[in-house]
Amino acid sequence: MQKRLNVFLLTDLEGVAGVDSIEDMERGSERYAHSCALLCAEINLAVKACFDSGADLVYYLDGHGGGGNVKEAQIDPRAVKCTIADWCQLLQEGKIDCMVELGAHARAGTVGGFLDHTISSKEIFSIKVNGVEMSEFSLHAIVCARYGVPVVGLVGDEVACKQAREYVPSIVVGAVKNATCRNVATTYPNADQILYDTVCRSLQKRSEVTCIPYSEPLLVEYCFYRTDMCEETLARTKDPVLRVDARTLQKHVNSVTTYFDLRM
Ligand SMILES: [Zn+2]
Repeated sequence: MQKRLNVFLLTDLEGVAGVDSIEDMERGSERYAHSCALLCAEINLAVKACFDSGADLVYYLDGHGGGGNVKEAQIDPRAVKCTIADWCQLLQEGKIDCMVELGAHARAGTVGGFLDHTISSKEIFSIKVNGVEMSEFSLHAIVCARYGVPVVGLVGDEVACKQAREYVPSIVVGAVKNATCRNVATTYPNADQILYDTVCRSLQKRSEVTCIPYSEPLLVEYCFYRTDMCEETLARTKDPVLRVDARTLQKHVNSVTTYFDLRM
């Protein structure tokens, strides 16, 4: 009997095809509603690609800005909606075989990355783990790696794809657009086909894609844009963090168990 294939789709909005301007990201605007419709279409196309490639189960996480970008009723009913906590629990229970990221963007401080940022474009200058600068992809990939689950595919802008391959050279990537400057991108005319093919190929090649390398214990370091942003996080967090300078917090993580271990 063939092994079951459970795929987890983790989505963001900045790297979605057709989301080509910073104005498309303004929550509550008409343009934002259009961006969400594009995200729905990408999720549905990726879900189809997964089932066409032999998936038994597909989960998805509407990750941008804490979720609420897509309505469950608009998503292919074969896919199961998840929260971040669900994602972590499924990893712990061994119910995810591989993950694919959609709508991915470059990490904070990247030339040529559309809306480059790491978790918060308003507050976070950089996030490092054991001295290595992280992207959102690499943070997700570390949590997956803890449970031996590879992130096999990534779809987003050109630089998001290039960076993903720097962390995991064997990952299958598909760029659907290119940034002309930080806040403006141009989506490729065949973006749908690129997304569909990338998801299919990433599942076909899943046994060849490795987990991101990392070593425990982890030193997690958040550098904020301003001193007050650092202070607000310090006041709010329940984690034992150390303020190393005006704008930087550190915490030691002996062993990663959930995504929240890498957050502050
Ligand atoms: Zn986002």
